[in-house]
Amino acid sequence: MKANFIQKVTNWGNFPVVEKEMRSDDSLNKIKEFVRNHNEIIARGNGRCYGDASLSEHIFSTKRLNKFISFDRLNGIIECESGVLLSEVLEVVVTQGYFLYVTPGTKFISIGGAIASDVHGKNHHAEGCFSEYVLEFSLLNEHGEIVICSRTENSDKFWATIGGMGLTGIILSAKFKLKNIETAYIRQESIKAENLDEIFRLFEESESWTYSVAWIDCLQTGKNIGRSILMRGEHAFRHQLPDNLQDNPLRLKPKFSPTVPFYFPNFVLNNFTVKLFNTLYFKKQRSKEVKNYIDYETFFYPLDAINEWNKIYGKRGFIQYQMVIPKEKGKEGMKQILETIAKSGNGSFLAVLKLFGKNNPEAYNSFPFEGYTLALDFKVNRNLKTLVHQLDEIVEEFGGRIYLTKDAMSKSSLTNYLQNVQNPKFVSHQHKRIINNI
Ligand SMILES: Cc1cc2nc3c(=O)[nH]c(=O)nc-3n(C[C@H](O)[C@H](O)[C@H](O)COP(=O)(O)OP(=O)(O)OC[C@H]3O[C@@H](n4cnc5c(N)ncnc54)[C@H](O)[C@@H]3O)c2cc1C
Repeated sequence: MKANFIQKVTNWGNFPVVEKEMRSDDSLNKIKEFVRNHNEIIARGNGRCYGDASLSEHIFSTKRLNKFISFDRLNGIIECESGVLLSEVLEVVVTQGYFLYVTPGTKFISIGGAIASDVHGKNHHAEGCFSEYVLEFSLLNEHGEIVICSRTENSDKFWATIGGMGLTGIILSAKFKLKNIETAYIRQESIKAENLDEIFRLFEESESWTYSVAWIDCLQTGKNIGRSILMRGEHAFRHQLPDNLQDNPLRLKPKFSPTVPFYFPNFVLNNFTVKLFNTLYFKKQRSKEVKNYIDYETFFYPLDAINEWNKIYGKRGFIQYQMVIPKEKGKEGMKQILETIAKSGNGSFLAVLKLFGKNNPEAYNSFPFEGYTLALDFKVNRNLKTLVHQLDEIVEEFGGRIYLTKDAMSKSSLTNYLQNVQNPKFVSHQHKRIINNI
């Protein structure tokens, strides 16, 4: 009997949902055969992009490409297959005194996904994107051939694939550098900002910190617009840690992670509950400034503490909208964006503001450039597309762009910055949507 690989597939936003062929394999010959025999293929890592970037007619899941290849403990260089998750890398390397140079706000993404979206973290202004630390990767190209790509070998493919959203082929494995750490803890300062002026001033004052990020209450208006909490941090040295953390500073105690058991009914998240959450969150921190030591999981991955939290948005799903606006126009652009959101009544439960540093011109498909970036979650409803297009217009007016890995419905003019990726073999639903201006 012929196996049926057609199944329902969706990414983290649960929007859109498609019914397509999805295969996974760890045999190189079978993967090559799959590529040679199909058109309109896209690689899928762990589906943590929010929209339709890793959906297509034929999806190749890298879940079975999950092996470590080598770990040079002396020089902090690791090589693994592309389906290995950042969480799995951290399990191996943290106790050895290493950390990822760049990590997004979830550790449940694959190495292939990290390269294809060229992910950034809270340290872009200081340490750039994930690609800065990638030494080489192997790519299965549109002819079904494996090519090694690095800054010196097949460098055109190397740079096209970085941030190339899977459109240049399937990354099979990668080798990248790690950062030395003395402890698994972060020295953190959290500072409350009453409005946009204050949060922008705090970001600029914090440029010498390696990590900075702000949670922002996007439903405030008037003099409170931009009310937020800035979190900045540094990897803690052992001698800085309080006595109770000194004994085993590279090992964290296992934690219990609850799971959201079912999709929340549609009415649970509404403007009122989002406003209430935002007010409680802002007031939870009583003093203006708090200094403490927290473990890296709490600092980098607060959302990973609750499994399947995406279900709180209900069965219709949600989108994430992330844009970047040039630095000098950042405050004015963000003000207009926040005013438009508050007026629309589409509250964003999670809104995160970050500062990007200068981009690497060689990594021309990467999303970040010097400026402010805001990421917002919106529950899918009938009015959402109208809001997204209103926001798109503001982003366009201010010379910004949209992050492809979060996008599900933006205007194509803001997402078409990808170059040198066009071929009939590797095509995603997102790319088709962009090309056809849907
Ligand atoms: C809670 C949360 C927080 C996040 N925070 C951040 C953040 O701070 N910064 C940030 O940059 N991103 C962030 N993201 C987005 C996430 O890091 C990216 O979407 C990442 O690419 C997802 O990787 P994945 O393995 O799940 O890949 P998928 O979601 O499956 O795919 C993402 C893209 O990578 C391509 N791809 C995946 N594997 C391969 C491969 N082996 N070969 C070729 N192409 C491949 C796909 O085709 C697709 O275009 C966040 C996501 C979530 C859910």
